Amino acid sequence: MIKTSILDAGKLQAFAKERKLQPFRIKQIYQEIFNNQNIDFSQMTTLSKDLREDLDKHFSVVTLKVDKLLEDKTTTKIWFQTHDGYMIEAVIIFHRQDEKYNKNDEEKLNRITLCISSQVGCPMGCLFCVTGKLGFKRNLTRDEMVSQILFANNYIKQKFGKQEDGSLYSVRNVVFMGMGEPLLNYDNVKKAIEIMLRQEAGFSLSRRHITISTAWIIPWIKQLVKDEIPVKLAISLHAPNQTLRDKLMPIAKAYPLDELNKALSEYVNASDNRIFYEYIMIKNVTDKPELAHQLVALLRKKLAHVNLIPYNKNPAIDLVESDAASIQAFKKILEDGGLTVTVRDSLWRKMKWACGQLGYEKLIK
Ligand code: SF4
Repeated sequence: MIKTSILDAGKLQAFAKERKLQPFRIKQIYQEIFNNQNIDFSQMTTLSKDLREDLDKHFSVVTLKVDKLLEDKTTTKIWFQTHDGYMIEAVIIFHRQDEKYNKNDEEKLNRITLCISSQVGCPMGCLFCVTGKLGFKRNLTRDEMVSQILFANNYIKQKFGKQEDGSLYSVRNVVFMGMGEPLLNYDNVKKAIEIMLRQEAGFSLSRRHITISTAWIIPWIKQLVKDEIPVKLAISLHAPNQTLRDKLMPIAKAYPLDELNKALSEYVNASDNRIFYEYIMIKNVTDKPELAHQLVALLRKKLAHVNLIPYNKNPAIDLVESDAASIQAFKKILEDGGLTVTVRDSLWRKMKWACGQLGYEKLIK
């Protein structure tokens, strides 16, 4: 039997009414979940034993089942199974205090980022992406997205416990960069973000610590502005001109570059957020110097930061990663042109834990 999600406020209210529970009990249950980072009713010791058992009969906190978990010093990858048997993935990334200057993994934990999935598979079919090759199965529900954070917070609590100030370690940044195109699941993503931002019965995250990565679905970028959801945007750009983008990303044909520019200007004006542009480095495809100059011309006057992402090699796709010298030369042209640029760390890629590689194991099977 599938239990009801505890986040279903209506069902929880009905449960409480039937048992004549005081209203503060519901508050207490949500405090146990969001503040104390408990996902098992038996851990919720501020509630009576009878209530814990009763809740456990009817509700579940995390609506996904953990299938597998793989840990490294800097990342933990989790495979979740949905109630209807699909597999999705999330990755926790541990940032150490001096990671910019000192790669010592024993350095004090500074902040924690969680990369979550928004769909099972992805319908976008980008040429370079393993997740896209899996095809699209369905959208994730609000509670399936929130469950990824609830599980991660409980896992982090068990692994690291309390910080010096007495508060529990928890996810500080959420990025929608796992499986799926989040803006194609707009309504559920919006509802999940509401819970992330909420102080009560929510994660109290700052809007600046939530990032939606999108392949530029223009109507939904406009909707974000209209709905006043001022989270950060990472645009999967990957090419500085329409011809190359059409080849790499089928969706580009539907939404031309100049229309995207207009939509993004509206977004920047409304949110005052800098936009992150993701640019994949594929040997002899996207890493040519003339493309770097085009990228400078495209982004120079914008509130922009470019992330160069070395292509993640895998046997299912016939493309090759740019070599380090080409990446550095490309980066230099961008910086000389006045752009701020980061080359994404290669560790996650080696572990097949990086963007565009979620679903890798399934595909090679
Ligand atoms: S890169 Fe992103 S949008 Fe494109 S297929 Fe992969 S998951 Fe979907």
